[in-house]
Amino acid sequence: MRDEKKEICRIFSEAFYFVVTSHQNIDGDGLGSALALYFLLWRMGKRARVVYDGRVPYFYRFLPGSAQVLSFEAFSAEKEPFEVLVVVDCSNPARVGRVEGFLKEARYVVNIDHHPDNAFFGHANFVVPGSPASALLVYELARELRVPLDADIATGILTGVVTDTGGFQFAELNQNLFTVVGELVASGASLSTIMHHVFRFRRLEALKLLSRALHRLTFDPVCGCASTHLMQEDFSECGAQEEDAEGVVDYGLYIPEARVSVFFKEIAPNTYKVSLRSRDDFDVLPVAHHFGGGGHQRAAGFKITGSFPSVYREVLDVLRTMVLESSK
Ligand code: AMP
Ligand code: MN
Ligand code: MN
Repeated sequence: MRDEKKEICRIFSEAFYFVVTSHQNIDGDGLGSALALYFLLWRMGKRARVVYDGRVPYFYRFLPGSAQVLSFEAFSAEKEPFEVLVVVDCSNPARVGRVEGFLKEARYVVNIDHHPDNAFFGHANFVVPGSPASALLVYELARELRVPLDADIATGILTGVVTDTGGFQFAELNQNLFTVVGELVASGASLSTIMHHVFRFRRLEALKLLSRALHRLTFDPVCGCASTHLMQEDFSECGAQEEDAEGVVDYGLYIPEARVSVFFKEIAPNTYKVSLRSRDDFDVLPVAHHFGGGGHQRAAGFKITGSFPSVYREVLDVLRTMVLESSK
């Protein structure tokens, strides 16, 4: 079988013009990995750009290189050539938004990801579902390419790891991960700065929004499901934006008996983005697949349309059934 990591190293060495992108509703793993790849390619003497179809949330703007991220509009206007499109932390091409249209223009599409349901849409696919973060695959590539880590690359990678492990709570900080983190810190990444921005750096508007979600949190002790929601008027009344709801879903799992947490975010009238989180013993991925979404075993999501009461009932019914099924 072809070694995908080596194939990517070959493409990285041969080509010159690179574009790096990640999924919409970007998180610290998508952005941290994309920016680490961007610096890595520059260090290799390549011309690289990062494009993202969306707005970079303010709490990730501490990341080196984040000011260089091109919007879809700016990227389209530039008309600069590119040979390779690197898609990182993204299970399928539809999730890069309008950047998807550029996939067919690339000589090579490189897919670097850790989602179990990755669609293997690249010419080269470095996909490791067991990896706690896509950023760790970028780390492996840097090693394989013998590009020395610097503070810019290390900060992107460590931000990816910190975000997707929930600050080392969802993946055990074992000896192996500890050694990698040690190297990233030795290369100039600041763990306290990253932790601060990822978890404890939120606008007042975001905290007001969180208080509404917490106020509405309900818990069903029979199946261990915690649930809450935020409607469009919550956002407007709090002066909040979509990114201000980041992390809201995590609170349901604070409840000691909770097995799964579900959060409904109204993104347009009667359209909801649903986030799912669970503890080790329950796999939320089949639930997300049931509703046409995707993700990981412990973090997944999907979109659904309908009135809130009907959407809520439908999702909770499926969740209850699947949770109770899994404990048989
Ligand atoms: P979120 O709840 O948006 O933080 O997403 C949690 C995980 O589920 C992430 O790994 C996402 O990539 C994935 N995910 C969320 N929404 C979707 C979707 N509509 N389709 C596929 N994967 C999704
Ligand atoms: Mn992600
Ligand atoms: Mn990820």
